[in-house]
Amino acid sequence: MRLSRYFLPTMKDTPREAEIVSHRLMLRAGMMQQSSAGIYSWLPLGFKVLKRIEQIVREEQNAAGWNEVLMPTIQPADLWRESGRYDDYGKEMLRITDRHERDMLYGPTNEEQITDIFRAHVRSYRELPGRLYHIQWKFRDEVRPRFGVMRGREFLMKDAYSFDIDKDAARLAYNRQFVAYLRTFDRLGLKAIPMAADSGPIGGDMSHEFIILAETGESEVFCHKDWLTTDAVPADVDYEGDLQPIVDACLARYAATDEKHDAASCPVGESDLVHTRGIEVGHIFYFGTKYSAPLGAKVAGPDGKETEVHMGSYGVGVSRLVGGIIEASHDENGIVWPEQVAPFHIGLVNLKVGDSACDAATEDLYAKLGTAGVDVLMDDSSDRPGAKLATMDLIGLPWQIVVGPRGLANGVVEVKNRKTGEREEMSPEAALNRFA
Ligand code: ATP
Ligand code: MG
Ligand code: MG
Ligand code: MG
Repeated sequence: MRLSRYFLPTMKDTPREAEIVSHRLMLRAGMMQQSSAGIYSWLPLGFKVLKRIEQIVREEQNAAGWNEVLMPTIQPADLWRESGRYDDYGKEMLRITDRHERDMLYGPTNEEQITDIFRAHVRSYRELPGRLYHIQWKFRDEVRPRFGVMRGREFLMKDAYSFDIDKDAARLAYNRQFVAYLRTFDRLGLKAIPMAADSGPIGGDMSHEFIILAETGESEVFCHKDWLTTDAVPADVDYEGDLQPIVDACLARYAATDEKHDAASCPVGESDLVHTRGIEVGHIFYFGTKYSAPLGAKVAGPDGKETEVHMGSYGVGVSRLVGGIIEASHDENGIVWPEQVAPFHIGLVNLKVGDSACDAATEDLYAKLGTAGVDVLMDDSSDRPGAKLATMDLIGLPWQIVVGPRGLANGVVEVKNRKTGEREEMSPEAALNRFA
């Protein structure tokens, strides 16, 4: 992509309305623009990152054995009347009336909708387990939308659902999602810690929030310091195998939000306990027959008798993750994208557009890297060199290749690693070989 043809409305000044670093950097890097409180347009750079995160979430859901569907954003109120949540949900729900005076709503979540799909099609225990997910926009009329995409009103969520014959079978689904979440957040370059969460009226140990540590997070959290150095689950984890040991190893390492933490009964000594703040990026939940009972989602068991299915739901805040990753990975000059989610792999900077040697070398690298399938953003604008380099640091691409007249006179370009700041001079051919 040529910067001259790319819509990248960066800002030099720090927008006043932005309280936290990710919000400031997303605005300054031209990633998104507010439409109204908590509602954003995604501009090209931000949209690309959002899509990359979405794709990693999708791949890990598929690997764990879930089928992707797409449910609508607008749902009929009657479904929510069946579950009893239409009145319970309160003011966070955006209620809409259509031209025929029918009550509709913009979905804040999809338990009712998915249960309606399940009950229409599944009759027998033989068709279980049911494992469906979608990645769709949600609307919650938050009292205080803030921190940009981190607490929006309209936001993108991956929500998965499971249907099983009983609690033991539901636990297998829960464990799969638990492991899939460890994998997903690791691939996104994040350390997300599963923390015991309030499991509501059902109780039990099957509700976990996945939280990334950040001073600006809205949750107060406590965890054993070992969490800071634990290894990820390997990519070749066998979802058909026994996942309980992986889950148990996590549960054995203390981690809880302030709602669950009790200083008196905490098993971790003060010197080993980390007390900090965090951002909820995912939440998994087993809730038994809470929706299947009122909505009549039943299957015939082996004995022919009908039973209500046991359900779980598993959410990831896809759009919140864009901000969350920036909170976890930035420096004083801007964003530092982990390679897996970076909008482009390399920023190729022509310091002196119009200089025939610079133009030729930059265009040649751009063409060859493109042929090799490397995603490059080439700065071919006529901005000042200092401004170009500042923009590249701001938007945080993992690598920069800087082509300037002085270097070229000596036969070299500069390759810079955005994260470490390390710079290396090499010939254009060597730079090409490094990445192509
Ligand atoms: P929070 O405690 O932050 O309000 P929640 O517990 O209400 O979140 P869930 O119902 O568990 O959210 O939804 C699943 C995921 O959706 C959350 O873990 C979070 O990552 C994301 N999410 C929830 N609300 C928002 C929001 N207003 N803006 C962006 N992402 C959100
Ligand atoms: Mg909430
Ligand atoms: Mg929460
Ligand atoms: Mg939650």
